[in-house]
Order: sequence, then C-alpha cells, then structure tokens
Amino acid sequence: MDFELSDELLAVKELGREFAEKEIAPTAAADDRDHHFRRETFEKMGQLGFFGCVVPEAYGGTGLGYLAMVLLTEEVARVHSSVRVHVNTQLAPAVTLARFGTEEQKQRWIPGLVDASRIGCFAITEPDAGSDVASMSTRAVRTDGGYVLKGAKTWISNAPVADLALVYAVTDPAAAHRGLSAFMVELDRAGVRRGTLDKMGALASPTGTLDFDDVPVPADHRVGSEGQGFAMCMWQLNQTRLSCAAGALGVARAAREAAVAYANQREQFGRKIGRFQMIQDSIARMIVEEESARLLVYRAAHLADRGQPNNLEVSMAKYAAAEAAAHAADGAFKILGAYGYSTEFPVERYLRDAKSYQIVEGSSNIHKLIIAQDALGYRKANRQP
Ligand SMILES: Cc1cc2nc3c(=O)[nH]c(=O)nc-3n(C[C@H](O)[C@H](O)[C@H](O)COP(=O)(O)OP(=O)(O)OC[C@H]3O[C@@H](n4cnc5c(N)ncnc54)[C@H](O)[C@@H]3O)c2cc1C
Repeated sequence: MDFELSDELLAVKELGREFAEKEIAPTAAADDRDHHFRRETFEKMGQLGFFGCVVPEAYGGTGLGYLAMVLLTEEVARVHSSVRVHVNTQLAPAVTLARFGTEEQKQRWIPGLVDASRIGCFAITEPDAGSDVASMSTRAVRTDGGYVLKGAKTWISNAPVADLALVYAVTDPAAAHRGLSAFMVELDRAGVRRGTLDKMGALASPTGTLDFDDVPVPADHRVGSEGQGFAMCMWQLNQTRLSCAAGALGVARAAREAAVAYANQREQFGRKIGRFQMIQDSIARMIVEEESARLLVYRAAHLADRGQPNNLEVSMAKYAAAEAAAHAADGAFKILGAYGYSTEFPVERYLRDAKSYQIVEGSSNIHKLIIAQDALGYRKANRQP
C-alpha cells in the first residue's frame, strides 16, 4: 500500500492550493455575503483544467484522473465551498456524456463544459422526489421529432445561470425506475422557466428551480437508450458524490485549521485556550475524523482510477467526509466562542456550508443505508450499471 502522492499529483494539489489562495480567497467572504456567482473564477477554473480531470483528452479533458480531481476539489472547498460546486455541475453532464453519449453528442457538448464556455447543471430532484429518485414525475413524451418535456425540478445547482442541463425524466410511467431516460437540454429553449432559491449556505453557488412547460427536445438530445436513465443517474451520482466528498474534506480541513490557529492565540484564565483539555479533545476528534475521511476519499478515487467498482467506498467516503465537515465546523464554531458566531470570521460560513454535505448527493442516511444493506447482504453496492 502506497500512501505517497506521485510528483504529478503533488503538482496538481499545489496548483489547486495556489489557485484557491490567490483567486478565490480574496473575494470568498464578499461573494458569500452578496450571493455572487463569480463567473470569471469559474472560467479560469475551466481554462486551468479543473473540470477535465476525468474527461478524456479527445474531448478537452486532461485525463489526470479521479485522485487529481479530489485533490483539486479539496483545495478549492477549503477556501470556499460554494466554488467547488462548479466541479460537479460541469462534471455530471460531461462524464455522463463521455460514458453513455454518442460520438456526436460527446463532441457537441463535452468540450464546452470542460473549458467553462458553457455552464452546466444536472436536474434530478423534484418537489416530491428527493432521495427516492425513481419517484420523479417530470415527463418526456415522444413526438414525431423527439420529445416534449413537462414537469418541475427543484434544488438544482446553477439553475439560475446554466446554459445546459442534464435532465432526468420519465419516458415510461408503467416501468417504474426502468422508465426513466436522460436528456441534454439547452436552457434557452422555449418553455423553460428558472427560479432562484434562497438558502442557508453555499451562498455563492446559485441554486434554483427549472420548470419545463412543454419544452421540445430533439431525439438526438436523449443520452443513452430509453429506460436507461435510472442506471445512468446512479452511475453519475457515484462520480459526483466523490467530488462532493472531497469538498466536505476541504471544509473539515478549513474548520480544523481555524480552530487550531484560534486555540493557539486566544487566552483565557491566563493561558492559551489550547492548553485546556476540553479544547484538545475537540481538536483531536476533528483531526481523526478528517484524516479517516481523507483516506476513504483517496481510496475511492484510487479505485476509480484503476477502473474498479467503488460505489460502496464512495458512500463510505461521502458519509465520513460530510459528518467530519459538520462536526469540525461545529467544533471550530464553539472554540471561537463569540467570534465563531461573528460574520467577520469565516467559521460561521464553514458551519453553514458544511451542513449542505449532509444532504446533497445522497443524504448521510442514504449513504448509511447503502453501506449497511451491503453488509447485511440485502443489496450489493458495487454493481455495474
Ligand atoms: C445546496 C443544494 C444543492 C443541490 N443541488 C442539486 C442539483 O444540482 N441537482 C439535483 O438534482 N438535486 C440537487 N439538490 C437536491 C439534493 O440532492 C436533495 O436535497 C437530496 O437528494 C435529498 O432529498 P430531499 O431534500 O428531498 O430530502 P428527502 O429525500 O425528502 O429526505 C428527508 C429526510 O428523510 C431522510 N430519508 C429519506 N429516505 C430515507 C430512507 N429510505 N431511510 C432513512 N432516511 C431517509 C433523509 O436522509 C432526510 O433526512 C441540492 C440540494 C441542496 C440543499
């Protein structure tokens, strides 16, 4: 077992760290406060290859792999969690097209998603269908030239700003989860309406609704075959969950760093508060949870790079990292006392951002369910779509 990163991966990590410190840190607090999606940062990330690690070079990617992707994502999220969301909004449609699309579809859409000339998103969730993806009701009804899309998606990252969406919809209501299909939809099509949702954290990452009011979608915009949508969606989530886990890791690290720095500087009762054992207990827990999550995230990425199934390992990584982030942010918040509650320090932002990881890309409960059902032999997690 080799725990060392190669020189190439160390260079990728350093690129991520430098970029995050120089390009993201200076405006992180203001962008969060102003709910500002900073397009120029998004575009620079595209130009530097942040969205192409797991995309083949033939379609504009770097092909550096999943471990490279998680290293970059962690560095970005450590500085501003909202910005790491961009990785997933581009990754989801790009890798799904790379895996299931036709050659023509790959050439038409992937390069623009990778170089950030087009903003992507993926639309699974609906007002009445969250964890239970197969219960979605958005319909894609066959017509002469293709399909007509009708329904409502909600909680879609980038919905207010995206150019393109990977939309999952029902093509055969009688076939339950085997009746879903996936479509690439340009969001300037007639009948698409967008809305913006306000939320607790990830404030510089716009989230919203997409309403499809009889939107015509050409037949060549369907990705994969009819009825393959559910399997594709689960495959796609397995990729984006990994990047999401790396994001949570970044937030856990940021919170732990803030807690340690503050405990080494703040004095009460005539000593640095880091000298108090209860503060040490909190810091030790943060470090162990963060390091455990890091090993799980890197292992899941390593398996993906070797082409091995990793759904179980991704669920463990996502669950561990999400909980590590939430616990570390809560611990840091307490260690900073009133300054944890202050908007002048970033810890309250870490806490708000950390909570999102316990919900998005499969809630912590859903990942525990996947892990336990695998152990109990009810449902193997590592099955190919
Ligand atoms: C900031 C943000 C960004 C998002 N971005 C996107 C996006 O880009 N695209 C997209 O499609 N969606 C997106 N989502 C939606 C997200 O994927 C869903 O919120 C998530 O899947 C959970 O669904 P839900 O919120 O409807 O919760 P529900 O599924 O209604 O769950 C409610 C509670 O019940 C629990 N629960 C549900 N089922 C079970 C079960 N079987 N066993 C035990 N507990 C259970 C859950 O863990 C949760 O605690 C985003 C959400 C947020 C908050």
